[in-house]
Parts: sequence; structure tokens; C-alpha cells
Amino acid sequence: MKRPEVESLAAELRAMAVNARPVHLYSIAGKFGVSEIRNVAILEDGRLRRDHGRIVIELRADRNPQRRRFTLAHELAHLLLDSTAGQYVTIRARSASARHAEVERLCDSIAAALLMPPSVVEELEQSYGVTFGLVEALATITRCSLGAAATRVCEITDTPVVLTEVSRSRTGDIELRPLSRRPRHLSGNVRIDSDQAALTAARINLDPRPAQFRIGSRQLHGRIEIRSSGPRRFVFFAVDNEAQGPRVANGDKSDLAAD
Ligand SMILES: [Zn+2]
Repeated sequence: MKRPEVESLAAELRAMAVNARPVHLYSIAGKFGVSEIRNVAILEDGRLRRDHGRIVIELRADRNPQRRRFTLAHELAHLLLDSTAGQYVTIRARSASARHAEVERLCDSIAAALLMPPSVVEELEQSYGVTFGLVEALATITRCSLGAAATRVCEITDTPVVLTEVSRSRTGDIELRPLSRRPRHLSGNVRIDSDQAALTAARINLDPRPAQFRIGSRQLHGRIEIRSSGPRRFVFFAVDNEAQGPRVANGDKSDLAAD
């Protein structure tokens, strides 16, 4: 499904909410007749239950609040697709399992679009540019995870960005663990070629600066930023469009793939 359709479905949900920032999900649930939202010990992140005419949304209790909020938005997207408004959504899939996967992906996209409206991203971009600061501010304001916020920044600003978290392997090597989904044409491990020293400086905060890095087989030019937030360390990459090199056929930037 194309981005504009996802955005308009999300806008439809947002229109059901009482006017508040961040988006008031409980009021949308109320409009769908959800009688209870509860945190329970389940294996999946969330589920919709209908018993005796009641709609109950269950969220996995041991997930963090941002994750539960995202899951709640995902379940609201399911309710929208099940409603009359959702009947106009066409999902093309070859098999029942492909259809299921497609619906799940669609609900994730609608959830992200619902929680992080384009206007909020654009407004913040005015102050921050496409930086880690933008991702952090967006995550804070919308109460989303940094990974979800980075994925959304990538979508809205048309700048391919990758947010990674720095960790140490058992052998003491520095590893970059991707937190955001990224455009399909940018899959693979992230490596910094030109400035390995920047990575060892992961203890300090490094302002955005030009750098070369590799994502999968692609050599890219862009900006790199190293930031800390509490005990966590992040490396943020923003790819320069002009220097990006040839695109993969059908490499639609809005077409996000999971890692
Ligand atoms: Zn689902």
C-alpha cells in the first residue's frame, strides 16, 4: 500500500480522537466501542478480543510504555480495517499467510503514521534538521521509541537515515545494532570506513559531521552523529541523497523493509 493511503487511514483515526497532543488513543478506542484496555501476561505484543459483544484490547504487560502505546495504535488500525471505512482497503496477497503478513505490516505503518503525524515531524525538522535531535524530540513528544521515530523521520523527510545503538560484543568489539527500519535498498550491516576513530569516541557526544560509511554493499556519503542518552550510546547516519549512487530498481523509499 502506498504512503498517501496509509497517511489518510491514519488521519481518519486521528480525526476520531479528542484534540490533544500526543494523540489520545483511548478516545479513539472509545469510538470503536472498546470497553476495556488491559495489560496482561501474553506472548504476543497485543491482541483484540471480542467476547459477548464486548471489544477488549490486551497489551503485553512486560513491554515498555512506548511499545505498548505503539501496539495499542496497531490494534486500533485493525479495528479501522474491520470497520466500514476499512472495507475500501484492497490488500493484494497470494496466500492467506501472505495476506496476514501484509495486514500486520499495514497496521504497523498506520500506527506509526497515527502516532507521529507528518505535521509534527515537519515542525520539528524546522528546528533540528535531520539529526538525532529530531529523532529524540519526536520520540519524546509522541511517546514513541527512538527506533520508531527514526523510521518515521526517514519516511517523512525523504532522507534515508539509520539509527544504531552501540554495544560491545563478547570479544570486546564495538557493534552497531540497527534500531530503525530502513529503506529496502539500504539493507545490510552498517560500517564506518573512513573514520574508525569516531566510533571509539562513542563515549563522547559528536555533533553531525560529514562521513563515509557502508551499509551492506553500498558506499555512502552523509553525516554521522554520536550521541548518548543515559547509559545508551547511539550512532545516527543520514545519507546525502545526491551522493547516494544508483538506486535499486523499484527501490521506493517509502517501501520500508524490516531487517
Ligand atoms: Zn496485528
